[in-house]
Order: sequence, then C-alpha cells, then structure tokens
Amino acid sequence: METTYKKERQKRFILPEDQIPTAWYNVVADMPNKPLPMINPDTHTPVTEDDLSVLFSREAARQELNTTDRYIPIPEPVRELYKNYRSTPLVRAYGLEKALGVKSHIYFKNESVSPIGSHKLNSALPQAYYCQQEGVTNITTETGAGQWGAALSYAARAFGLELAVYMVKISYEQKPYRRSIMQTFGAQVIASPSMSTRAGKDILTAHPNYQGSLGTAISEAVELARITPNCKYTLGSVMNHVSLHQTIIGQEAELQMHMAGEYPDVVIGCFGGGSNFSGLSFPFMRHVFSGEKKTRFIASEPASCPKLTRGVFQYDYGDEAGYTPMMPMFTLGHDFSPANIHAGGLRYHGAGTIVSQLLKDGFMEGEDIPQLESFAAGQLFAQAEGIVPAPESCHAIASAIRRAREAETQGREDVILFCLSGHGLIDMASYDQYLAGNLMNYVLPQEEIDKTTSKLEKII
Ligand SMILES: *Cc1c(COP(=O)(O)O)cnc(C)c1O
Repeated sequence: METTYKKERQKRFILPEDQIPTAWYNVVADMPNKPLPMINPDTHTPVTEDDLSVLFSREAARQELNTTDRYIPIPEPVRELYKNYRSTPLVRAYGLEKALGVKSHIYFKNESVSPIGSHKLNSALPQAYYCQQEGVTNITTETGAGQWGAALSYAARAFGLELAVYMVKISYEQKPYRRSIMQTFGAQVIASPSMSTRAGKDILTAHPNYQGSLGTAISEAVELARITPNCKYTLGSVMNHVSLHQTIIGQEAELQMHMAGEYPDVVIGCFGGGSNFSGLSFPFMRHVFSGEKKTRFIASEPASCPKLTRGVFQYDYGDEAGYTPMMPMFTLGHDFSPANIHAGGLRYHGAGTIVSQLLKDGFMEGEDIPQLESFAAGQLFAQAEGIVPAPESCHAIASAIRRAREAETQGREDVILFCLSGHGLIDMASYDQYLAGNLMNYVLPQEEIDKTTSKLEKII
C-alpha cells in the first residue's frame, strides 16, 4: 500500500523560552530625526528626569528620556512573569485568507493570549516592578474601557503594590466585568467622579449626576498619587516608556516570521496612543532606517478619532486633564471627545511623540477605518479564525483585509502582518449593538476638529 505524504503546513509559531528577547528595543536611538523634546507647560523648557519622576517611577522617567541606548535589558523578575504567556503565538491566518479568496499571506501576532486578554500587560508588569524596586507602595491609574486597569491590577498584585483605579462612572455601571476582574486581583476600583479627591468633590458639588469622563478620572488618579506618600501614577499608552516595553511583541514576531520563512511587506497595528502599533512595528522599522528593507507600516485608527490623518502636529498634553508635560504630537486637541465610538481603547486624542515624528518623516502611514467596516472585519475574522477580536483590534484587521484585497487586484502576493492586540470576550455589549444594527458610521465634521485644535498654543 502506498502512502502519499503531503507537506504539512504550519499555522502557529512559538519561540522556545530561551529565545524570548531579553531586552527591549529603544527605537529613538536609531531614528534619523529624534522627536522634539517634551516641555514644561509653564516654562517651555525641556522636561528633566526629576520633573517626570514626580509622577512616574524614576526608571520609567529615565527610559522616557533615553535617546541613546538601543537596547534596555528586561529585568529578571519581569522576564519570569512574561514567561506565563510569552512568546505569544504568531499565527498564519489561513482561515481568513480562504474567506477572502486571496493569495497574499496574512499573519497575526496574538497578544490576546495574555492572562488579561491584551498587550497592556507587557508594560503593566515592568511599571509595577520599577515602583516596587524604588520603595513605592501604592499606585494609581484611570481606566475607561478597563483594559489598562485590568492589566495593572494583576501586575500590582504580582509585585505586592496597592492599586487604586479611577473608572469613569458610566463604564463602572455599564461595563461591570472588567471592574470585577480588577477587584478579583485585589485592586480598589472607584467610580469617578468620587468624593475621595478635591477634583471629584468639586465636580460632584457642581453636577451631582455627572457620569464622569476620562479627564476627570485622570485628575483624580493624579491627585491621589500626589497626596499619598510613596505613591506613583501610571499610564498604559502614549508615553515613550510604554512603547518601549511593547517592543517585546515585534522582536518576537521578527524571529517567528523567520521560522515561517517569510518577511512582512506590510506591518499593521490599531492605534489608540500607539503602544501596540509601536511594539510590533519598531523592531521591523530598524531595517528600514538602515536601508535594508522597504516595509510599509500602517496605524489603523477609528474614523471618529482621526488624530493621525486629520490631526495637527503641535505641542499638547498627553492626557485630557493636562497633567503630563506638553508633547510634540499629532493631536485633535486634549479637549477633543470622540462621539459614538465602541472601541474604548482608541479614544485618545493624540499620538505619542515617537510615532508622531515617524509619521511626519514618512516612515509610517495612518489609515481611518469607519466603525461598521471595523466590526464587519472583526466578525469575518471571528468566523474564519475562531477568535472574537477586541473592538480596537478590529481596526487592524480591517486594514489587513484592505491590503490583501488591494494586492489581489494588483496581482501581488504580499506578506501582511498585523497585531491582534486583544480579544473581545468582555466587549460583547459592543458586538450586540453591531449585530442588532444599532451602530452607525460617524462622519466627523471638520469644524469639530478645528474647535479643539484651534485652542492649542502655537508652539511649533
Ligand atoms: C488599549 C488598547 C488598544 C489601544 O492602545 P495602544 O496604546 O494604541 O495600543 C488597542 N487594543 C487593545 C485591545 C487595547 O486594550
């Protein structure tokens, strides 16, 4: 009897533990044009490590301003915890390719397998670790959709820190499951506005039924950090040190693409403040700086919050409340409040300073995705690959689908790589709305953008 063997195709690529990268990649060291400095809003002088370490841990402040070291070692205890879920799989999306009927090869880096379901843990762990090392006992943060709060709750527990999370009141009431996750890990979750801070009290006195906003939650988290001894504040996106920590994603992906015998023509990430996009892209981008490769990098943002494609390049605050230093960024203005958007993690008004410079210099592109196209892409992906993507990640999937279809009509077989930044299993209320036909595309009028960007001080 004769047996014919077919060459089996590999779907998932995982690195052995001893090949997980041991340092993060600091892209700033290799950038042809460095980002402009962050400045102090009062004096307009560049911020120093001392300025930043009032709010953040000393090591995070140091990393924020590091423009020279290409690699920054990942501390041993953080690497140990990374091993609980890293390497994350690189997966060839055969199902999606088939559903689209395209010859291009589509890969995704699956960050949804982290214990809390998104890439956010990659930065929560080192941020908590540095605080513990520096004798900090308490940390604070704010959360809207709850992904960052959930990641930080686990990280705080792992390093024995007390965590207070200010959660926008309307999310606290309408999206109870991430609150439960945070509480399960032992975090204190406070609906914002609250009576625990001056900022919260002031707003509640004036508007007793106020449902909260990210801006108010930030004000409360920062205020608590300032008045509590041994307490620091943390952020889960936008800042340089956060993007730095996320480069574990792209470094792994590069090794895994090598295992697959391929190299991406296009690298895609959804874009809130830039951390998962940066994490996947930067390690590949170093080969573009050196002239070896011509990879395309695409950041997919919601059409209703289009800082990369329709924002202005100007100094603005990294947060809605105006507590961070002023940063040179593509921004819609820190007062901008996106309407009608179900991808909570993509609501940020601005992009980090590194990605902003890279966009300005033409190393990457922004792409706007309408809400309905995004959910349709997510549903197709779910049916083809068996994973329900986070509403944020659906934007990256939509861009990947656009690229695969374009390549098909132009007769090319491209290699497309995108970041699946998280799963959507705790975001099913948004899918319900989509499936019920209640969601609409929101066309953002130019006047709305002008209103908030014209208020920015013209520093550049
Ligand atoms: C927070 C979040 C994002 C957006 O943040 P970035 O810093 O731009 O990566 C995207 N996807 C998921 C699943 C998130 O939780």
